[in-house]
Amino acid sequence: MAIESINPATGKLLRSFDPLTEEAISQKLALAAEASRSFPSVPLEHRALCMNKLASLLEHETDEIAPILTLEMGKPIHAARQEVAKCATACRYYAENAARILAPEPIATENSSYVRWDPLGVVLAIMPWNFPFWQVFRFLAPALMAGNVGLLKHSPNVPQCALLIESLVRRAGFPRGSFQTLLIETNQVERILADPRIAAVTLTGSVPAGRAIGAQAGWLIKKSVLELGGSDPFLVLPSCDLDAAVETAVRARLVNNGQSCIAAKRFIVHESIYDAFEQRFVAGMEAMKIGDPMKESTDIGPLATARIAEELEAQVHAAIKDGARILTGGQRMLGDGNYFEPTVLINVPRTSAVYREELFGPVAMLFKAATLDEAIEIANDTPFGLASSAWTRDPAEQQRLVAELQCGAVFINAMVASDPRLPFGGIKHSGYGRELSAAGMREFLNAKTVVLA
Ligand code: NAP
Repeated sequence: MAIESINPATGKLLRSFDPLTEEAISQKLALAAEASRSFPSVPLEHRALCMNKLASLLEHETDEIAPILTLEMGKPIHAARQEVAKCATACRYYAENAARILAPEPIATENSSYVRWDPLGVVLAIMPWNFPFWQVFRFLAPALMAGNVGLLKHSPNVPQCALLIESLVRRAGFPRGSFQTLLIETNQVERILADPRIAAVTLTGSVPAGRAIGAQAGWLIKKSVLELGGSDPFLVLPSCDLDAAVETAVRARLVNNGQSCIAAKRFIVHESIYDAFEQRFVAGMEAMKIGDPMKESTDIGPLATARIAEELEAQVHAAIKDGARILTGGQRMLGDGNYFEPTVLINVPRTSAVYREELFGPVAMLFKAATLDEAIEIANDTPFGLASSAWTRDPAEQQRLVAELQCGAVFINAMVASDPRLPFGGIKHSGYGRELSAAGMREFLNAKTVVLA
């Protein structure tokens, strides 16, 4: 089947690519393996030079790159430019910090001993479409600075982004084979991962994809990192700055047209401020400007594919059938493109399957809590554990939230966001391992113990 780039705002086919043949895949694997032998000996300073050049290319060519993200997956053009700029920050972070992170660590023993950090080799990166540049760059910047080699299997709806990233990496001066895009189908992944030349795999995507790749990697005894879904809670407590909480809540739900793993999806509000929050939150959701993502004034564009819009609509219908009520929105919008109304659901029963699912689009679920204990209990009552945002000015409450929320990151009085300086990742069904910061770089390094007697 062809790999198709389709504009989600119009449904029109932009470009179509044939998946790689088995022979072409073999050649790319051989090139990656060859690169993995020579690339680690390229001096770190030279790798940093290339990484800074990559950042400069992203910065100077933002206006040419950003429209490709928008055309392929529908994010508003201003958000696409921000994404490209963020990729440059990750490149610069690792160019500047790799020497520190990779420095041998002396350890006091009776001998001379230390840990050195060696690259693992060729890492297969399986990535989603929602941040088609950022997801890839947060893997490739630490991987290449560490001397690993990358093979990218991107989502089939963003092939132009995937090819553009490969060409930017080459233009930045990285050696041939150090980072290649594989335009392949899902069923071609298994054989590639099983190839002995692949040392490890990282996957960002859904829970089913994580199960499939994690199971295979486990059987092969290959290192894996899984960044999976999330149903992040957003807790609002009486002492908070309600204006800031509501404004951030709307933004946190609708970031990237609602298609972000760390978008706030469940809003858990103390009963004493619930009515005020609900009324203002609904007004905020209704005030969003929905339309052509290429227009600067657009807040929300279409969902990335027709299937995502259909699945979201089915989830909303299922919640209603189970007893939930719609305060606003609830449907796909008429016309071309995969537009979906910003939607607020209340009274979603705990027995509804939707209560435990991720809503990957502009649909929020609101819950009322009588106490902090109850708010934390609802927040943790999910199979996921990616991140949480909690709003309170009470230091004792802040401490409890930080300690008791079961997830990979807690943001107090702030929206959850990834940052190259901070570890990023989840627990429970949100996956395992970390990306970004020193922790992310070390996932694909061999902590080699050296003892000199
Ligand atoms: P997806 O359907 O799981 O796809 C993600 C990637 O995995 C795609 O490249 C996909 O390719 C591939 N894939 C899926 N099943 C596979 C299998 N059995 N074997 C090999 N490759 C497979 O997810 P998505 O719909 O693109 O992305 C949305 C999901 O990603 C959401 O759940 C979201 O929360 C999660 N996400 C997580 C993070 C995080 O950092 N935790 C960040 C962003 C998104 P094919 O489509 O060709 O199968």
